Amino acid sequence: MAPRLSSRRDAVLREMGLGPIWRLRARQAAADATEEAFEQEASAPAATGMAATIATSRAETQRAPVFPPAAAAPAAELQPGPARPAGARNVEPPRAHAARPQPAATPTPAATSAATSAAPDPARSARIATLDWEALEAGIHDCRACALCERRKQAVPGVGDRQARWMLVGEAPGAEEDQRGEPFVGQAGRLLDNMLAAIGLKRGEDVYIANAVKCRPPHNRTPERGEIAACLPYLDRQIALVQPQLLIALGRPAAQALLDREIAISAARGKRFERAGVAVVVTYHPAYLLRNPQDKAKAWEDLCFARRLMAEAG
Ligand code: URA
Repeated sequence: MAPRLSSRRDAVLREMGLGPIWRLRARQAAADATEEAFEQEASAPAATGMAATIATSRAETQRAPVFPPAAAAPAAELQPGPARPAGARNVEPPRAHAARPQPAATPTPAATSAATSAAPDPARSARIATLDWEALEAGIHDCRACALCERRKQAVPGVGDRQARWMLVGEAPGAEEDQRGEPFVGQAGRLLDNMLAAIGLKRGEDVYIANAVKCRPPHNRTPERGEIAACLPYLDRQIALVQPQLLIALGRPAAQALLDREIAISAARGKRFERAGVAVVVTYHPAYLLRNPQDKAKAWEDLCFARRLMAEAG
C-alpha cells in the first residue's frame, strides 16, 4: 500500500496544486508516457509518498544531460536568442509580486541610460570578489553602480544559511522585499517557501536565497541587462562565499544571469548547467506560477530533478 503523506506535506502539495501528481508520476514512469500525457492526466486522484515519487518518476530513472559551463557549452545549446531591446520584457512572463496588477514598465530616462551604459568594470568585480560577508553586504547596501539605487528603499542582499548546499536565485526585490530588506517575503515568497517544504527544505536551513539584482526595479519591471551585469559581481561573490552544491535559477532573468546567455525556461528545464563549477538548474519563477498554476506541476518536476542531482552529488 502506498505510504501516506504527512499532513504538513499534504497541505504543501495541495497548496502547490500537486497532490494528484504523486500517483500520476509513478504511473507515468511505468508507462513511459510523454510529458503531454502527464499533463493530460493531471487530474488523477490519490497520492503516494514523496520518496515513492522521487524513486519512480521518469525524471529519476533517466540520467539527465550534463551541460558544460556556459563558456564551453555546445553550439546547439548556446545559440543566443534575438537580442532583447533595453527595457523590453522577457518572453518568460515577468514578475508580478503579490499577484497585484503592476503598471507597465516605465523606467526613468536616468535609470535606463545608466543601466544600459553600465560597462563591465573588471577592477570593481575583482575587488568585490575579495569581500567577506560583512563588507559584501555593506557594499550592496551602499551600491550606486546603476540607477536602481535612486528609487530603492534599501538594497536586498540575500538571506539564509551561509553554508547552505542549496542556493536559490530570484530576479529582483519587489515592493515588500524593498520595504523589509529580505528576498521573497511577498506572495511569491510564500509559494517559494511551500515549494521548498515540498522537497523537505526550509528557508534558512541549508538554503540561501538571493536575487540576481539587489535593488527593486521601478514598478517591478524586469531588470535590464546592464542592471543585471552591474549586480552580477555581488551574486558571484555570494556564490563563492556560500559554496552551494546546487543553484536553482527562478525564472528567466535569473537563469540568464547565472548562465550568461539567452534562455527560455521551457527549453532549459530538466538540464544540468554549471556556473563556476556549481550545478545550476532552472525552473519557473514563483510569481509566474501564481499566475499560471497549471505549470506548478512542471516546477515540481524541476524540484525533483534538483533533488536527484543533489542526492547524486552526495
Ligand atoms: N521576486 C524575486 O525575484 N525576488 C524577490 O525577492 C521577490 C520576488
